[in-house]
Amino acid sequence: MSALLRVDNVGKTFVRSGKPSVEALRAINISVNEGEFASIVGASGSGKSTLLRIIDGLLEPSGGAVFVDNTRVVRPGRDRAMVFQQDSLLPWKTVIENVAYGLTLAKTPWTEASKIAERFIAMTGLTGFEGHYPHQLSGGMRQRVNVARALAVDPRILLLDEPFAALDAQTREIMQTELLSIWEKSSKTVLLITHQIDEAVFLSDRVIILSARPGTVREEISIKLPRPRNLEIKRTAKFVGFVDKIWKLIEAEVRLGLKDSQ
Ligand code: ADP
Ligand code: MG
Repeated sequence: MSALLRVDNVGKTFVRSGKPSVEALRAINISVNEGEFASIVGASGSGKSTLLRIIDGLLEPSGGAVFVDNTRVVRPGRDRAMVFQQDSLLPWKTVIENVAYGLTLAKTPWTEASKIAERFIAMTGLTGFEGHYPHQLSGGMRQRVNVARALAVDPRILLLDEPFAALDAQTREIMQTELLSIWEKSSKTVLLITHQIDEAVFLSDRVIILSARPGTVREEISIKLPRPRNLEIKRTAKFVGFVDKIWKLIEAEVRLGLKDSQ
């Protein structure tokens, strides 16, 4: 199978005048296949967000390149959509206007854009809230709007940067199961970044572990758990075994990072 997304030897060093430069990423090689759900985990500061921004085309790598379907990424495009940890909704627009935003930017007529938006509003469990403004919604609902907005432009690859990190534990678990069912229904290719190891294991076909700064791919682990998955799988020995294995790798990196900063 050929990869839909290919990160080819990507490095990134931030150069700032008057300050020491920061090597955030070094020689990253990652492939994600069409329809695959892959996650990247790594300690804080290991370059996860930097890597996702490079993949989205928001940031230029210092070395190497990103390819989607063998075409080099040089800017954001409709084949990729990103969901950020922070709420990035437009506060003066309603739920449906936010979900349809990417479509209206692309000059899709409102009758069509709103119809498409309605579909993803339903898929993310927001029916009835179309006319609400972001400040009238809970954190979990706002993140649903962000996911719906990303899906509405029908990207080939969904890029998620710690999308549930700001939510409480229960809401996070609900969002995880909903993301799984959306992924099953939409057959999108997903690349998720998280520092929650159990979230990565629960959702993914494959978990990519980054080392501490500069981020390099330390290991990739195939998550051979049956699908469809529900929350009960988190209590199985096999699941716990995957979490344990990944945690041990991350734990070493977190300690290394602490030692470096002393
Ligand atoms: P993560 O998402 O894994 O926590 P980031 O990608 O946000 O990590 O950051 C990786 C490293 O790069 C950090 O040390 C961070 O301080 C540094 N960094 C990120 N963005 C910039 C920037 N614009 N200028 C300088 N350093 C940056
Ligand atoms: Mg980050």
